[in-house]
Amino acid sequence: MKLEKSTELFQEAKKVMPGGVNSPVRAFSSVQMDPPFIKKGEGTYIYDEDGNQYIDYVGSWGPLILGHCHPEVVKGLKEVVETGTSFGAPTEIEIKTAQLIVESIPSIDMIRMVNSGTEATMTALRLARGYTGRNKIVKFNGNYHGHSDSLLIKAGSGALTHGVPNSPGVPEDVVKNTITAIYNDIENIEEIFKTYGEDIAAVIVEPIAGNMGVVPLTQEFADRLRSITEAYGSLLIFDEVMTGFRVAFEGAQSLYNIKPDLTCYGKIIGGGLPVGAFGGKKEIMSKLSPMGPVYQAGTLSGNPLAMMAGYTTLKILKENPQIYKDLDRRGQILAEGLKSIVEELGMKASFNRVASMLCMFFTDKPVVNFEAALTSDTDKYALYFREMLKRGVYLAPSQFEATFINAAMGDEEIKKTLEAAKEALLEVKRLG
Ligand SMILES: *Cc1c(COP(=O)(O)O)cnc(C)c1O
Repeated sequence: MKLEKSTELFQEAKKVMPGGVNSPVRAFSSVQMDPPFIKKGEGTYIYDEDGNQYIDYVGSWGPLILGHCHPEVVKGLKEVVETGTSFGAPTEIEIKTAQLIVESIPSIDMIRMVNSGTEATMTALRLARGYTGRNKIVKFNGNYHGHSDSLLIKAGSGALTHGVPNSPGVPEDVVKNTITAIYNDIENIEEIFKTYGEDIAAVIVEPIAGNMGVVPLTQEFADRLRSITEAYGSLLIFDEVMTGFRVAFEGAQSLYNIKPDLTCYGKIIGGGLPVGAFGGKKEIMSKLSPMGPVYQAGTLSGNPLAMMAGYTTLKILKENPQIYKDLDRRGQILAEGLKSIVEELGMKASFNRVASMLCMFFTDKPVVNFEAALTSDTDKYALYFREMLKRGVYLAPSQFEATFINAAMGDEEIKKTLEAAKEALLEVKRLG
């Protein structure tokens, strides 16, 4: 595999953009190589500037569940481009998108479109605070909710802590109301509520975490979160930016049979264009400006192009439930295949999978939370990643990200992936 043109472009990029990228993980630093620059995508494949072809397991980090350039999405976008790309005024496609979501997701009476997942979670928290009149929020170690100040936080020391900022530029004052909790640890969340319950506006959680690798909540923990937030009058916010319309059309909340008070979306809801959204009970959503006093606005919110890409994607998914069955079946074949290769080679790895999201952790520990995920051997992952890339398989360039299957992927691609994995893992075994 040669990456001459990409390497040249990366040198150019680094002169004018910090790290050469517009989002850090794209720089490939955790897999210890320079990134290929992508020229185009088609179905399940992407092509870089040097003409290399890859099976794409990133799918723009989740949005492209239908693969690249789905013909109906492209057609919809072309229509919109011809009639104006932004008005900053209401358009019909916004209603159609909102209706489709409200009709499909029982926990959602009303929804507000924004431009990214970060904006969705940031505003959902503001709304939760405005609605409850409380200040504290609880977030879980290893869950990622975008990069807004109060959520850029890592655990402090001790079991029951206020977090510390995990980026310079985030004042301690801003995170003093953010309490960090241990994922899937019932005792820990009960202790937090016993101490701070009356002041907690909301608990925000990725019901199936996808930003520390893939780590699902246990049903028991999810149920406890619902009951304890209810008991204390705190809101339960599901961050389904990644899982919404991914693990099932109705998202993780349908798998757990839990109605959160607010849900955040992004990724798939934009069909590959920049979108986020949050929605929930009418009583809560009506506190939002202009109906209520909690302020939020956006010049490009509900943008016609983004709405068309999202609406078309969601409509295809809703009308073709078979897609989810196929994604799940291929996810299973891939996960089982990887597992048996690992076993055959006498190696150790831990697997988590929910539908089309999966993760192979280079650790022998079951990964139930962030603390366990961190026991993974990231150097081994980096080597595995590079060996897979060489063989035309584009995985997420970090151990702590999900592998996504898309609907354009066929059994043929899964087979090719497993063949590549066999060789790649053999290399990892040989060198590791
Ligand atoms: C991607 C992601 C976000 C952030 O969304 P952006 O559009 O990147 O701002 C928030 N929460 C979760 C669970 C995500 O996966």
